[in-house]
Amino acid sequence: MFSKILIANRGEIAVRIIKTCRRMGIKTVVVYSEADADSMAVEMADESVFIGPPPAAESYLLADKIVEAVRLTGAEAVHPGFGFLSENASFARRLAAEGIVFIGPNPKAIEAMGDKIESKKFAAKAGVSTVPGHVGEIDDTAHAIKIAEEIGYPVMIKASAGGGGKGIRVAWNRKDVEEGFPAVKAEAKASFGDDRIFIEKFIESPRHVEIQVLGDKHGHVVHLFERECSIQRRNQKVVEEAPSPLLDAKTRKAMGDQAVALAKAVGYDSAGTVEFVAGQDRSFFFLEMNTRLQVEHPVTELITGVDLVEQMIRVAAGEPLAFGQADLKIKGWAMESRIYAEDPYRGFLPSIGRLVRYSPPAEGETVTGIVRNDAGVREGDEISMFYDPMISKLSTWGKTRDAAIDAMGRALEDFHIEGLGHNIPFLAAVMDQKRFRSGKLSTNYIKDEFPEGFAGLPPTDAQRDLMTAVALSMHRTLTRRAAPDLLRQDWIVVVGHQKRAVRVTADNGDFTVEGEGRQTRLESVDWRPGQPLFRGRCQGQDFTATVRPAAEGFIVRHRATTLHVLVLTPRSAALHEKLPPKKAADTSKMVLSPMPGLVVSIDVVAGQEVKTGEVVAVLEAMKMQNIIRAERDGVVKAVNAKSGDSVAADEVLVEFA
Ligand code: ADP
Ligand code: ADP
Ligand code: MG
Repeated sequence: MFSKILIANRGEIAVRIIKTCRRMGIKTVVVYSEADADSMAVEMADESVFIGPPPAAESYLLADKIVEAVRLTGAEAVHPGFGFLSENASFARRLAAEGIVFIGPNPKAIEAMGDKIESKKFAAKAGVSTVPGHVGEIDDTAHAIKIAEEIGYPVMIKASAGGGGKGIRVAWNRKDVEEGFPAVKAEAKASFGDDRIFIEKFIESPRHVEIQVLGDKHGHVVHLFERECSIQRRNQKVVEEAPSPLLDAKTRKAMGDQAVALAKAVGYDSAGTVEFVAGQDRSFFFLEMNTRLQVEHPVTELITGVDLVEQMIRVAAGEPLAFGQADLKIKGWAMESRIYAEDPYRGFLPSIGRLVRYSPPAEGETVTGIVRNDAGVREGDEISMFYDPMISKLSTWGKTRDAAIDAMGRALEDFHIEGLGHNIPFLAAVMDQKRFRSGKLSTNYIKDEFPEGFAGLPPTDAQRDLMTAVALSMHRTLTRRAAPDLLRQDWIVVVGHQKRAVRVTADNGDFTVEGEGRQTRLESVDWRPGQPLFRGRCQGQDFTATVRPAAEGFIVRHRATTLHVLVLTPRSAALHEKLPPKKAADTSKMVLSPMPGLVVSIDVVAGQEVKTGEVVAVLEAMKMQNIIRAERDGVVKAVNAKSGDSVAADEVLVEFA
């Protein structure tokens, strides 16, 4: 076995590999760019080597720098992670020539599978069912039309060298091919320096199902079952699970057998993934093979108990696989959510920046299952523009699919991030949708379910009950001195657009709210003023809500639902009713203080050009820091506040020209 491994990657996957190496007693080296000098991976590795400026082309993609770092540290092998040099056959060859072990497949296998046209030909020869289409290069638009019409519309025009969802376009008719063929050709040339194009049948409303394979250098290949990755945005995976709710035992076996046959035919000798598109009728067709560890590998590890990184290291060191196909069994169900730095409420706009707060859920066994969070960041770290905007991968395991979904829903409640936009509410919405739970997935899922974009989910009755109780409990805590007895009077709680007359009928640690025929029991409350997370048990179920003060009342988010909640006495509710509705001034060119508070910082100056999403100011209210961002692009005309100022709700902080 190796005594020292160099990891030619960064972020969560570098940390993931270090964890397994530590367990195996192997020393680790990471390389890092200027942007990653203080990263978690650098902190955790035994040694680290600086390799250049932030852009990957000047650091992580430079084979020379990696080889130099290996020489400097005396590492015996290189794990490339995913992305970067992981599927680069000439890098694998270069390492071999230098006497360094590449922890991945042999270069011939990388080459054979790295190209979509070649791999499709190869797969067809190995008896794998491929998407009907033309397996060969297409010369020009006229040729493309001829091929498309032979296959029959709709078709998919694809770059042979494509990857990461780029260089792909659907054509529904002749006109689409006339426009699409030159467009994909140009994109392929620009992105991959290779403009070979092919055309295949577009499978409508398909599902993405892939098989994890594992081979050694002694001719053994097994598969570790499937993952379904149909929840995609722009052909990029967002939620993955294992096993797939689509497959039955027969299809699983057929798919697994084909994947193993293909792996054997290319002499595959590491961990890899054979991707298929599947119809709702369980027909399936080979798409491509990824000759590396896959982003979503944790779900396979959770249902099989196999550490794929450990297996990659062992087979690279020449060990034969210690288990055969018959030793592998599926146990339970696993889900993975990719937590991205993007704002789901604004068309999933990238939202990079500093993780002002980063508090993931506790990992390990819980009452319902297992929680695992693969991350490479800590509170205070920055998600930079140079690399993938993934913050972490949250995975859960349960005995059944429902249990895994429940565990994911709970884990997402407990994941708290501030400082940048993130897709946690969106992921929570998917977990709470009936269609997702029913397993009727397709790669159109997000488009079908959120045709107008994402705006949160409407509250259920149970969520209104929960938020009513939470707001009353917060009100009691915050006004304890002024109104010591919550029990003595009636309350009007405005929860979203609903107004409820309620009474608190018990308040001795446990807390009962009654009114309008509903009764809500809130127990084990864990919240103090200033805390953004409110934990408790409602109707016997543990929950976590995100809370923050508003100009009046509170903003409460539970999973995918956010509501404004007001706690009023009947008297103040009556007065409230009489207030003239606030006239909507044109505030489109102003940044207003959303609540009364203390200005911590104003982060712009007059004359400055500001882009949507940039931080304009930071405001502290009830001991919480609130980041105020520009809602649109513009130039700052005036700044009306400075750090240290106390401001009222709706006070103008910054004006745009
Ligand atoms: P996968 O097929 O493993 O699910 P994707 O298709 O989502 O990965 O990613 C497309 C490409 O981007 C892959 O080549 C993958 O290796 C790379 N990639 C994805 N996420 C990261 C990351 N966090 N760091 C580096 N590379 C990544
Ligand atoms: P990449 O190398 O970018 O991962 P893939 O060939 O794996 O490219 O395709 C990415 C995604 O595009 C798939 O997961 C699937 O959702 C969709 N896709 C690809 N080919 C087809 C097809 N022939 N029919 C329908 N969807 C497809
Ligand atoms: Mg793919």
